[in-house]
Amino acid sequence: MRVLFKNDQPDLRSVSSVIDLTALDVISPGSPGYEACARSSAVVRCHSVPDVVQVVACAAATGRQVMPRGGGHCFVDRYPADGIVADLSGMNQIVGDDNGVAVIGAGANLGAVYATLHESGRTIPAGCGDTVGIAGLTLGGGIGLLGRRYGLTCDRLVGAQVVLADGSVVECDENRESELFWALRGAGGGQFGIVTELRFATVPEPSVCRIEGNWTEGDLIQAWQDFAPDAPDEMTVNLTVQEGRATLFGASALPPAETESLLREITARAGVLYAIDIRLDVPYSMVKPTFSTLDPDQGARRVRSEFFARTMSERTTAGLLQRLEGDRRLAFTAMGGAYNRVAEGDTAFAHRGERFLLEQVAGPGDPWVDEAWSTAHADGSGRVYPNFPDLALENPGLAYHAGNRARLAALKKARDPHRIFDFPQAL
Ligand SMILES: Cc1cc2nc3c(=O)[nH]c(=O)nc-3n(C[C@H](O)[C@H](O)[C@H](O)COP(=O)(O)OP(=O)(O)OC[C@H]3O[C@@H](n4cnc5c(N)ncnc54)[C@H](O)[C@@H]3O)c2cc1C
Repeated sequence: MRVLFKNDQPDLRSVSSVIDLTALDVISPGSPGYEACARSSAVVRCHSVPDVVQVVACAAATGRQVMPRGGGHCFVDRYPADGIVADLSGMNQIVGDDNGVAVIGAGANLGAVYATLHESGRTIPAGCGDTVGIAGLTLGGGIGLLGRRYGLTCDRLVGAQVVLADGSVVECDENRESELFWALRGAGGGQFGIVTELRFATVPEPSVCRIEGNWTEGDLIQAWQDFAPDAPDEMTVNLTVQEGRATLFGASALPPAETESLLREITARAGVLYAIDIRLDVPYSMVKPTFSTLDPDQGARRVRSEFFARTMSERTTAGLLQRLEGDRRLAFTAMGGAYNRVAEGDTAFAHRGERFLLEQVAGPGDPWVDEAWSTAHADGSGRVYPNFPDLALENPGLAYHAGNRARLAALKKARDPHRIFDFPQAL
């Protein structure tokens, strides 16, 4: 066992020790690992299910909390001040496609998932950001460029393996531990246990038209709102707006001529010139990295967001644009389509009647994020994506879980009575 006293991951800088387990290590009283776990803020790198079981047992024995960590991209700091981080990056195996099911270690990231499934011509609907963890993304939902056609990433989840607070290892799916399986699909990560493996029903990887258009003038917000949430399922077009620049970007699996004629509708509605670049026949897995400059790492940014079930008024839109300066950004993500063809209570992800998601993004200390969020909130549905946690919410339980809140809270009480898994705004 190596106990390191320095960490190279930016989000783990506050953590004092890192323990890298190998297959033969045992965390027991007297071992260096045990001492470090029993002290404040340790990270344990797990490589196997027994490693994870040991971490949970050590936490329970020493009265500490555990935070599972996948890609480390959570928007807020959830590290328990006195607890253990179970780092799953060593459990990142991806077993391609077997009868349409991919088995993915909870420490895998999206870049590796897309690349591996691509080899067998398959994929899953999932998000952008190569280093985002598959577990964190799936447990909170998973919104991406194929989602309007195939649903959230969690809608493709068919089973998972989980280490619970009592140290037991359970398999869950529609028939086994079905309540836990329900909760894993959209309640958000770190609530019920440590997921060690995820099984997904994959879909054929489509070749798509990559879409990108940039304008320095004109107001595309109103036109986008009227178009993108109702576009055919095969097309996802998102919008970002900054000072002096609006960008439409996305992907379409429709024939190029149909794609172009639909995009001409948006520009006609917005009264701007048609200036959209369509790149043909791009495998879906190759499209996402090309948008990395439009979707920069939000680590040093503050994000507040909300879902919208109806179009924002022109007054609200004008208010949002008023102080959009410097690096401030509005990011609109189209919902609708397959996202909304699942009933609110069928999975823990409750937000099934929304038209779009709006993020206000700026530097960490910029008061504009709160001002813009309040302006937009006048027309918002009051619901917030669990994967975009927001510590400023007045009633986070309602915002994240809506009608599923009571059922989730009951499961939390039953499965984690001593709150080994806990963080601000947890169930
Ligand atoms: C650059 C960037 C791009 C993004 N793009 C998208 C996008 O396109 N679509 C989208 O929907 N979201 C997107 N997100 C948001 C993303 O879904 C969330 O930040 C997600 O929670 C990140 O998961 P993670 O594993 O990387 O982070 P982590 O910080 O490791 O985990 C996030 C939460 O999940 C818990 N968790 C992690 N692993 C496990 C596990 N194995 N078992 C139980 N709980 C676990 C953690 O405890 C934590 O509470 C993006 C974020 C960033 C930073």
